Amino acid sequence: MHASGSSIWIGLDAFDLVELRLRLRQGDLPNLARLARTGGLTRLAPDVPGLHQSVWRSFVNGRPVGDHGWYFSKVWRPEHGRLECADPSWLRLEPFWQPLADAGLRLALIDVPHVRDPGPTFDGVFLGGWQAHDRHPLEVRPATLLGELTARFGPPVMPPEHYGPQQSGELRRLHRLALAALDQIARVAEWILRRERPDLMLLALGAPHRVGHYLWDLSQIDRSRLAPEEIRTLDRALDDVYAAADRAVGRIAAAAPPGARLAAFALHGMGPNPGWNDLLPRLLDGQPEARRRRSLRARAHGLRRSPLVLNASRLMPPAIADVLRDVWSARMHHWSSTRFFALPSETGGLVRINLAGREPLGIVEPGAEYEDLCAELAARLTAVTDLETGEPIVARVNFVDQLVPPDAPFRPYLPDLAVEWRERRIGDSVGLRLAGGATLRWPRGRRTSSGRSGDHRSHGWVVGDADVPVPLDRAPSGVELAAAILDGCVQRRPRAAPQRAPAATRLQTA
Ligand SMILES: [Zn+2]
Repeated sequence: MHASGSSIWIGLDAFDLVELRLRLRQGDLPNLARLARTGGLTRLAPDVPGLHQSVWRSFVNGRPVGDHGWYFSKVWRPEHGRLECADPSWLRLEPFWQPLADAGLRLALIDVPHVRDPGPTFDGVFLGGWQAHDRHPLEVRPATLLGELTARFGPPVMPPEHYGPQQSGELRRLHRLALAALDQIARVAEWILRRERPDLMLLALGAPHRVGHYLWDLSQIDRSRLAPEEIRTLDRALDDVYAAADRAVGRIAAAAPPGARLAAFALHGMGPNPGWNDLLPRLLDGQPEARRRRSLRARAHGLRRSPLVLNASRLMPPAIADVLRDVWSARMHHWSSTRFFALPSETGGLVRINLAGREPLGIVEPGAEYEDLCAELAARLTAVTDLETGEPIVARVNFVDQLVPPDAPFRPYLPDLAVEWRERRIGDSVGLRLAGGATLRWPRGRRTSSGRSGDHRSHGWVVGDADVPVPLDRAPSGVELAAAILDGCVQRRPRAAPQRAPAATRLQTA
């Protein structure tokens, strides 16, 4: 195996496709526009619809979610009957670039989400947890590089995520630090490129993801209490960060060696946060409000088991949160009478069936009973309508069994239903009519429990010298993108036919 020249892949994490196209038309992103002119723009889709929280893990593995099981940061572990933090000790996390490292190609991996420390024998540059959106320990290889990076560029400036109710001061600080973080990581990348001359640099910029979640718009704070200048600053925060990400791409491109292959990509996007995940257990339940007002204990039980609380445990110290989540999730239902339950999720709703033979105390039989229950729940969810508009709030309910092969090694860890919401927000609504006619009501302006005004859209994109194979029947996914990176590092190939051999096979024969 030999390298075919330098390849540089820049992930603009969760930089939205709709916003990208708009800004390209307006001429706001000159560096991404240059890449789009020379190499085209290709739309990317998740490898399994509705499970787009897994796109980075599918990309890193170079395999679809049924082959790695890592659909969210907290994964239901049926052999233990509880939620656990996703971990490579029991899920698959084998980076697609490992054959390149094994063959002696020099890699620079910078803040690629969810990638673990490759260890002291790694002969390249690894930087993790510097400015990624997702929580990740700060890890650097070679370890001595951390001191040099800090001396040259200062400590990482990206702040940790503040999950929950937001204040305008915090959002202004996020705006300022996100811009500084983009400038800092661009300087770090330029320096590493010039010093290390890697065969492959894979870099992810975390600021578009973080700012997309919290500064998509100002729906999560009280605008009436802000000065006009503060509103103007916060309203343009996303524009500023997208423009700064474009400048970072331009600087990295300028530092690339002559003839380098260069592409930028996002695996998923961002849009307004509908906020309906907070209500998923209620929507599945379908019961009128009065029948739910039971004892204090029952209400506390209901709160504990909610995806909201399981999600918000990220506010606690990690060790405490992990223990509490394990205990809560194992006891969050009366299993002898529970046929289905909602799972915590960042985006979209996830539902699991208490399936006999898969769960420790499963009561739903596989086959017709399972299929009927999935269909019944999907019908219940798609029947939910907004009280004012009469429009459904669910865009689609995906049946995971129809999208993931039954013999996929990690199918037992995946949810059974993946719900995609329409973009109407909970805060623009005053209530819902559930299946069966019961109603839920609240005052207009209701905020999300996460404090996030933005949430993920499922589609991503790639621009530049990518050569991503485009299957005939769908948009390519991050799995195809990973294969294209492997191909590009070994030798350049023309765009390939949709059906291709696994990447490992192609590497051996290349
Ligand atoms: Zn996110």
